[in-house]
Amino acid sequence: MVYFDNAATTKPCKEAISVLNDSLLKFGNPSSLHGLGLEASQIISLARKQIASSLDVDDSEIYFTSGATEANNTAIFGAASKLGKRMKKIVISSVEHPSVSEPCRILESKGFDVVKISPQSDGFHVEDFVNAVDENTCLVSCMLCNNEIGAMLPVSEVFKTLKKKYPQTILHCDFVQGFLKLSLKQKELHADMISLSGHKIHALKGVGALYIKKNLHIPPFIYGGGQERGFRSGTESVPLISSFGAAADAMYKNLDANFHHVQMLSEHLRCEVKSLDGIALNSPSDGSPYINSISVGNIRSEVLLHFLEGREIYVSSGSACSKGKKSKVLTEFHIPDSVADSTIRISFCPENTIEEVDLLLEALKDAKNNLVGIK
Ligand code: PMP
Repeated sequence: MVYFDNAATTKPCKEAISVLNDSLLKFGNPSSLHGLGLEASQIISLARKQIASSLDVDDSEIYFTSGATEANNTAIFGAASKLGKRMKKIVISSVEHPSVSEPCRILESKGFDVVKISPQSDGFHVEDFVNAVDENTCLVSCMLCNNEIGAMLPVSEVFKTLKKKYPQTILHCDFVQGFLKLSLKQKELHADMISLSGHKIHALKGVGALYIKKNLHIPPFIYGGGQERGFRSGTESVPLISSFGAAADAMYKNLDANFHHVQMLSEHLRCEVKSLDGIALNSPSDGSPYINSISVGNIRSEVLLHFLEGREIYVSSGSACSKGKKSKVLTEFHIPDSVADSTIRISFCPENTIEEVDLLLEALKDAKNNLVGIK
């Protein structure tokens, strides 16, 4: 089988599975004062250290969550609750994941002014974000890498400028599709809060983290027994957290080699696709090599997806999160509806090979010859 749906989720790596197995039997409650509790809390401390060092931040700035959806919700509602009494404006990009855009929609219904910045025909412009922000802006939230087409957003430049101009405004980045794929750390992002997800980097599903800059004092989103230093209550899932730490550690060690390998795969795919009649590349040339969006003839995405599945090649139609719903994100990126309807997303991981890309290319050629016109 050829798995090209890594932006949706990844296969757990051997490092993650190995620590997961070990920690399943170290079942103490990390809050318990006896030895079993201590053993469990040490596993969490190690994972926290591993995540913190891959972002080059202090351990105390990492809070574990159930995933990036929770991290994004926590960041957005937290910023609104901290500053929103007097600062009622929120600025986001128009291509955010629903776990950012939906909380903002809820805040809009409660009186916040949510401004969405759209890409121009040549991509996002720093000044479009900067000009939208004013002294009443409590939060700017911007993803680094778009999950549907891999376009990169100018987070570093925007946040660096805003930090100087509006030091009060909280800057949040959904870093899910960039974390440990692109060599960027917190200092380069200039973000006050950063959301991460475990299952996009070969850990298990159901775990993620939120980086919060020291002394930012964001109020908790989940209240209870006071775990995660009072910020995120609920008994920690030690096995999931340990898998996240181990996967991050393994990805961090191989970040550059992985990037070059995936870049080679992506260049091969993009170059071959360009030479094929009737197949359009939707991803920008300077986007992440991990995510490649293409449209094939006028074959509907789902028809092509199932044709490829018949050959045991797994891709996604646009974004898995939109589950077949028409993607507004593709429209935002100026992709015409007729092309968007035929879009598939091919997302790589370092285990993918050039031979697998060739299998896909062969299958795409066959699909084009056999399926064109099937709606
Ligand atoms: N943000 C982005 C950009 C994503 O791609 C995803 C996963 N589709 C999420 C947030 C949500 O992550 P999780 O599945 O960990 O809740």
